[in-house]
Amino acid sequence: MTPVYLDNNATTRVDPAVVEAMLPFFTEQFGNASSIHAFGAAVGGAIRTARRELQALLGAEHDHEIVFTAGGTESDSTAIFSALEALPDRDEIVTSKVEHPAILAVCDHLEKTGRAKIHRIGVDRSGRLDLDAYRAALSPRVALVTLMWANNETGTIFPVEGLAELAKEVGALFHTDAVQAVGKVPIDLKSSVIDMLSLSGHKLHGPKGIGALYVRRGTRFKPLIRGGHQERGRRAGTENAPAIVGLGKAAALAAAHMADENTRVKALRDRLEAGIVQRIPNCFVNGDRHDRLPNTCNVAFEFVEGEAILLHLNRAGIAASSGSACTSGSLEPSHVLRAMDIPFTAAHGSIRFSFSRENGEADVDRVLDVMPDILDRLRALSPFWNGAGESAAAFRPVYA
Ligand SMILES: *Cc1c(COP(=O)(O)O)cnc(C)c1O
Repeated sequence: MTPVYLDNNATTRVDPAVVEAMLPFFTEQFGNASSIHAFGAAVGGAIRTARRELQALLGAEHDHEIVFTAGGTESDSTAIFSALEALPDRDEIVTSKVEHPAILAVCDHLEKTGRAKIHRIGVDRSGRLDLDAYRAALSPRVALVTLMWANNETGTIFPVEGLAELAKEVGALFHTDAVQAVGKVPIDLKSSVIDMLSLSGHKLHGPKGIGALYVRRGTRFKPLIRGGHQERGRRAGTENAPAIVGLGKAAALAAAHMADENTRVKALRDRLEAGIVQRIPNCFVNGDRHDRLPNTCNVAFEFVEGEAILLHLNRAGIAASSGSACTSGSLEPSHVLRAMDIPFTAAHGSIRFSFSRENGEADVDRVLDVMPDILDRLRALSPFWNGAGESAAAFRPVYA
């Protein structure tokens, strides 16, 4: 039984062409890019090429606006700490309730240690940002607005270009965690006012432990990691050349596959979604039906535990993930679904299927084959399930 991998928002398989591009930089091309000799120059040239490949994917004006980091989490931390340090007369941060922990945990820490006041903007039932609350939170005290481009759990897309323009009106810096958006939706930074953008290699068929922070030319910036002069003093430490080369290759491949992602992959996602809603009672799609990543499908199944569904799927050779995170022994529904006010009984049974360009029709067929039976069996054990779609009516599912 070939496994079906539908957890690409958690991580992706490294593209074989990426591996191939990386390999020489572990062997013959082992030089330190800072060295004057030929060994260094060859590696320096490869890093420059990778920077240009990322520049092209992001539509950035200059290649030196790309700063390589050790991943999405480091890029996010760098942006937040940089803004607070670069704008010392401001001490507020505006973010949302549905950000990745790489943003939320840093904000919680800054709040707890009294270094910043945090505005966490809420979302509606579809995961769309509360624009009135956002506008109300903006003031000349705000150093940084950090809002994600696309949500990792539901795929809901925030209109970050417009949100950035509002932030500029009060002189705040604007950062976006675009880890889930890069490679899936077109991005053209030179036509926006976004100051900083985070991305990560392993979410776009590149290696783990490598990422980048886009920093617009002229943006006030303070490094998180100090030391040598690498990355123009913005991120010290000998460059991870193999991973940087891999990320560059992954970016070039993502650009080439972007159309596929938005047509064929999206059609797979839509077929899975429609098939599930058609075959299984009392379930509905989480997230914004229109402004959503083409690869992400998050479905809430009432009266079942998401973890139980995942175990059954795993037994059938299917990898997906749930909206719940096991914290302190109790299953808490995800902070994203809670912020969206998804009822408890449904948030607990939410499953995320996330596609990539490596998926095909057979993967959708496999899931649609096994899901009805899994749900029937689990619901038969549920004390809350009486076989009738009693509460679904009150939920107004996206696909009625
Ligand atoms: C995966 C992810 C991150 C973290 O990236 P790493 O490279 O794993 O550190 C940050 N933000 C979002 C939205 C993500 O999906």
